[in-house]
Amino acid sequence: MSEYDLVIIGAGPAGLTAGLYAARARMNVLLIERAVPGGQILVTDWIENYPGFPEGISGFDLAEKIKEQALALGLDIETAEVQGLDLSGTSKEVILKEKRIKTKSLIIASGASPRKLGVGEDKFMGKGVSFCATCDGPFFRDKVVVAVGGGDTAVQESIFLTRFAKKVYLVHRRDELRATKILQERAFSNDKMEFLWDSVVTGMDGLFGVEKVNVKNLKTGNETEIAANGCFIWVGILPNTEFIKGDVKTDEGGFIMVDNKMQTNVPGVFAIGDVRDTPLRQIATAVGDGAVAAVSAEHYVENS
Ligand SMILES: Cc1cc2nc3c(=O)[nH]c(=O)nc-3n(C[C@H](O)[C@H](O)[C@H](O)COP(=O)(O)OP(=O)(O)OC[C@H]3O[C@@H](n4cnc5c(N)ncnc54)[C@H](O)[C@@H]3O)c2cc1C
Repeated sequence: MSEYDLVIIGAGPAGLTAGLYAARARMNVLLIERAVPGGQILVTDWIENYPGFPEGISGFDLAEKIKEQALALGLDIETAEVQGLDLSGTSKEVILKEKRIKTKSLIIASGASPRKLGVGEDKFMGKGVSFCATCDGPFFRDKVVVAVGGGDTAVQESIFLTRFAKKVYLVHRRDELRATKILQERAFSNDKMEFLWDSVVTGMDGLFGVEKVNVKNLKTGNETEIAANGCFIWVGILPNTEFIKGDVKTDEGGFIMVDNKMQTNVPGVFAIGDVRDTPLRQIATAVGDGAVAAVSAEHYVENS
């Protein structure tokens, strides 16, 4: 079995950037992706906050551009799902269904997935349903939106949404927020925000996009229909780490812990982008991580 200098798992913006840097540094590198390269940006309708595109760019076009640049520099991409890792030997092994791939270093760039409500929101992805106010807030200027959640992210992002939306209903299943007190104070003093306590979203409807959101009060059982153009969901984010069975250290949410070189607790194993513990999950931060990790992996291979 031949051995790669570097294997990268996941072809989102983080993994593709790491691949681009590694291929350009003439490392013997392979990127493994289970789906179409691009990651979450493929489900992002329009991106307005990625530098270099003042008019904005569609997620699909940005993914294609990053992929084409990486391929042109010599990156190999294999379509397969990583099932597991074997990090016990000096050489690391990536386990696929049909084979194992040996590598001197490894970058995990498998991303994350927002936790869903399971009330039919899939139909309205990019048509009113969003998991990211930083990304999509500006599309809801002077609109009414429903936000779901009660933690720091939900409250902070809802406050951010009030810069654009004329009204934000925050739906929370309990009668008090989990968010830090200072965020709560800001939210309570914001006259664009209204709180729907002890409530859950049970469905949504609309012809071309979200037009109404159904909310049920868990205490009274009453159902209300809110005329709204958007529904932002912040009930958690799940790292894509099913194939990592305790191989590297994670935080309590399951996100991989790294140092400032993106290295995990296992020498030669790096983690980047949304799958790592990070204060911001965006394309710009993912590509930055990718560049750092590729250079770190190069140094690791040279010195080991
Ligand atoms: C709806 C939406 C809108 C967004 N809008 C913006 C925006 O406007 N601006 C912005 O900066 N950010 C935006 N984001 C956030 C941004 O998309 C993410 O921060 C970014 O994509 C993270 O990149 P990543 O490479 O770390 O992970 P991902 O993009 O999640 O890519 C991970 C890749 O790994 C693959 N993978 C996972 N497990 C395996 C496995 N076992 N084997 C093989 N492959 C695997 C996945 O298929 C995926 O392709 C948005 C996110 C969403 C969901």
